[in-house]
Amino acid sequence: MKSKVLIYETDDRTLQTLRSFFGPRKDFSAEFVETPESLRERVSQGKGEETVCLVAADALSKIKPSKFGCLLLPLISRAPGLGIRKAIRHGAENYLLSPFHAEDLEYKITTALERRKTMERLRDEADALQAIIDLTYLVTSTLDPQEIFYLIVKKVSEIIPVTRCSIIRVDSDRNRADVVATFENPEVKSIRLDLRRYPEIKKALTSRRPVIINDVTTDPVMKKVRNIIFPLGIRSIIVIPIVFHEEVIGTLFLRTSRAGYSFSDREIKLCHAVANVSANALYNAFLFEKIEDEKLRLEKLAITDYLTGAYNIRYFYHRIREEFSRSQRHGLNLSCLMLDIDFFKKINDEYGHRTGDVVLREFAQVLTRHTRKSDVLARYGGEEFIMLLPQTSERGAIAKAEAIRAYIESYRFNKLKGKRRLTVSIGVSRFPGKRITNTGDLITLADHALYTAKKKGRNQVVVCKQ
Ligand code: GH3
Ligand code: MG
Ligand code: MG
Repeated sequence: MKSKVLIYETDDRTLQTLRSFFGPRKDFSAEFVETPESLRERVSQGKGEETVCLVAADALSKIKPSKFGCLLLPLISRAPGLGIRKAIRHGAENYLLSPFHAEDLEYKITTALERRKTMERLRDEADALQAIIDLTYLVTSTLDPQEIFYLIVKKVSEIIPVTRCSIIRVDSDRNRADVVATFENPEVKSIRLDLRRYPEIKKALTSRRPVIINDVTTDPVMKKVRNIIFPLGIRSIIVIPIVFHEEVIGTLFLRTSRAGYSFSDREIKLCHAVANVSANALYNAFLFEKIEDEKLRLEKLAITDYLTGAYNIRYFYHRIREEFSRSQRHGLNLSCLMLDIDFFKKINDEYGHRTGDVVLREFAQVLTRHTRKSDVLARYGGEEFIMLLPQTSERGAIAKAEAIRAYIESYRFNKLKGKRRLTVSIGVSRFPGKRITNTGDLITLADHALYTAKKKGRNQVVVCKQ
């Protein structure tokens, strides 16, 4: 790339030296301007970037080139002492005293450009370091992994000019990978990835080392998917494994569409550092999810009867209180069924207690199939079950009980041989009713009705007298 040089000088001898120096040079594009105003204009147009300004020291106060952040090399053609003082005052790091040698001119321009490059590199490194510090702080200051992931991809995209930047979480146990954050879309929280379409990620996972694809059109790793990703405009890719306690738990995944662009060492190093910072957050997210799953499991366990899978009585009491007060408040019907298997003792005697257990579980499953979402089925104890039917009238409750009774009578239990069937007796109670003032009354009256059903010969539905 050519280095741009802007020149404003009035001294003939200096001008001549400069013209004969730049004339044949192909590595500089030199432009001589006629007035200080046009120099200022040209500098401000180019924002001073990568431009070296050779300016007569006398014109410095008119132009003030340092304001534009360009590289300044004052030319001092007369009154050297005054010229040097002016150069220093305008922040010039060097100057040329006329007459000067071509070697001197070349040396001063190239060192100025090199210095600029070094400064830029240092600034980039400082930015990268600052980014790591910011990330470390962010990662330790917020607990929400989702927030952390997005901050990470955002920060990386700010420092490395990539088209796409994502964090992929890998669960090797379940052989799956999910995008947990992507800079392009802050809404993304979990998108399953088909790893067959990402050989570069697969390679990073198996090799546990970074995979750098500088050109997807030529890299052999991308052979099978080239046709898919090339139309997406992706040219280079970098995948950095995120490792926690020697285990790869994810990857940082950067893609860019810049043709012919290759990731610099600095960018790769930065990605490494970011991957290290992300490891803890990613691991915490795993733990968090596991704890949430476990919490849900325990919550469910706490309200479930271990043998039958129906709700336990503790949960039933909680729900009946809720539904009872709701029915009281809004004048709604609330019905209750008490169900008891007839002669269940015989089943145990005939088939053994363990088979009895299996039959009991199947009985609960059949009842569950007759339970609406709003109903509550619980094991009351032994071979007795209780069903709460919110917003259900006596007629509705009787119909439901009768349907269950008839179904059980004809149902063929897996473990029972031949024509052996079960029957069930059901007591029905319902609120509002004269004798029902609390939840206990509703349960007791259903129980009384059940007792009557047993007394009357079993396999029947009896409604409590109000
Ligand atoms: P009925 O209700 O018709 O009067 O006769 P029953 O034989 O069902 O009544 P009873 O209350 O006399 O006996 C209930 C039986 O249910 C006795 C007990 O062994 C059995 N049972 C209770 N809980 C379980 C259980 O968890 N597993 C098994 N296998 N049997 C149970
Ligand atoms: Mg019984
Ligand atoms: Mg019983």
